Amino acid sequence: MSVAVRRPVRTHAPIPTWFGVGGGADSMIEVRTEEDVCRGLEIDPSPRVLGDGANLLVDDDGVDGVVLAMGGFGEVAMDPGGAVAAAAGANLPKLIAETVRRGLGGLEGLAGVPATVGGAVVMNAGGAFGQIADAVARVHGFDPDGHRRTLERAEIDFGYRRSGLHGWVITRVELRLRPGDAAGLRTQVKRVMEYKKQSQPMAARSAGCCFKNPTVTHDLVGDDGVEIARAGDRVSAGLLIDRAGLKGLRVRSACVSERHGNFLVPDVNGSARDVIELMETVERRVLDRFGVRLEREVVVWRRR
Ligand SMILES: Cc1cc2nc3c(=O)[nH]c(=O)nc-3n(C[C@H](O)[C@H](O)[C@H](O)COP(=O)(O)OP(=O)(O)OC[C@H]3O[C@@H](n4cnc5c(N)ncnc54)[C@H](O)[C@@H]3O)c2cc1C
Repeated sequence: MSVAVRRPVRTHAPIPTWFGVGGGADSMIEVRTEEDVCRGLEIDPSPRVLGDGANLLVDDDGVDGVVLAMGGFGEVAMDPGGAVAAAAGANLPKLIAETVRRGLGGLEGLAGVPATVGGAVVMNAGGAFGQIADAVARVHGFDPDGHRRTLERAEIDFGYRRSGLHGWVITRVELRLRPGDAAGLRTQVKRVMEYKKQSQPMAARSAGCCFKNPTVTHDLVGDDGVEIARAGDRVSAGLLIDRAGLKGLRVRSACVSERHGNFLVPDVNGSARDVIELMETVERRVLDRFGVRLEREVVVWRRR
């Protein structure tokens, strides 16, 4: 008879994020199996879910309740026809490398996006070269009421950097990829990585783009009189931050990257509060200058 191992609940556990600042979790379960998720839900019906921490800022005081850390829950199965089943904590860059190696297309446009598969689905991660929603067939998990559910792709409200799945615990994701040519896919990965390296400070401590690219409701013109965007266009938030003169702006230990206006970067040993205040300052200054309200892409965790 096998005895189920009860994963211990860690207390005062650090929460690793790409920003590298912020507090820890009062309680954390390092998820390896679906039973660990069930246990977390028993203790806290609304747990917080940690993926790779690549789009997350945790307040300096940390968080209460249970944090389900998914990174160790990562097994993946794939068949040559392109059906991929991944546990939510599977590492997306590794999955992309493996699918490309096997000549399965559909994820190569997400090269350079740090994420777990679950986190990528919740954020609908993507960019100029595609979004994960296009590869999703089905998602399994627990809805905000704690009910085990399976959603078909058509039932998920995917949009630009949005899935409608915040508040869920995603446990598994089924992807539908296309059998293709591995060499062609490798070339595309290189192209995507070159594009990202040229335009983004990828090695900086950040969460990638802090703000979503807004769709503007009126024409925008820069100080030089040159048109930036027309009403109805989706415009780069980084461009607006740049044109508002905010690159390099600093609030104590946090600054707007000189390379990409939408990357906010804390100093080593900086504080989450400074990043939050910098976000608020950027939001206010872009609103004052362009009349555009920026929406945050970065998720901020605070005590409830
Ligand atoms: C250098 C850099 C470059 C980036 N480039 C891009 C880019 O090109 N395009 C892009 O879209 N993003 C980009 N990002 C942001 C980030 O990679 C994505 O948002 C990614 O999807 C975050 O996934 P994660 O697993 O790290 O989620 P986390 O940051 O851990 O969590 C983000 C949110 O998802 C929730 N979540 C995570 N896992 C689950 C789960 N299993 N079930 C339910 N909820 C869950 C969390 O609770 C949180 O609300 C970049 C980030 C960095 C640091």
